[in-house]
Amino acid sequence: MEPVTEREIRASFVNCSKGEAKRLPVPGDLSACPWEDLDFLGWRDPSSPQRAYLVAPSVDGLVGVALRLASSHAGQPRRNMCSLCLTAHPGDGVTLMTARKAGRGGQQGNSVGVYICADLACSLYLRGKKDAGPGGRLHESLTLDEKADRTATKVAAFLARVME
Ligand SMILES: [Zn+2]
Repeated sequence: MEPVTEREIRASFVNCSKGEAKRLPVPGDLSACPWEDLDFLGWRDPSSPQRAYLVAPSVDGLVGVALRLASSHAGQPRRNMCSLCLTAHPGDGVTLMTARKAGRGGQQGNSVGVYICADLACSLYLRGKKDAGPGGRLHESLTLDEKADRTATKVAAFLARVME
């Protein structure tokens, strides 16, 4: 994705109040982000482990969503697969995160869930820039571009569900 500024990030959030968007913790050193390797920017709140954020480009401009981690529960499978990048991680390396829906849906308490890499580094796993460990990535005949397109499509579909 193209590099974005803190201001653009704060203005992109669709499912939280302007006040929340103003206060949420944007990554400190945006100039150090590997933008050319990112399909979206995702990060966890360092001071609030149940909160995470995802910002992605779309045809209508940048879209950001605030996410909450569903509390981990006993009895989950040993290995889960991220629904966005299809990387498998053991334990809680893949987490169910929920986004309050934008607008009226959110006011009524509706949310949308997604199973996602707990560190939101999908783009890096996809490109082999971050190692998911043995068995983390399936062997596929797709090119990297095709895999990145697939992830971008899944992210767009998730964001569309948040905004519908
Ligand atoms: Zn992922």
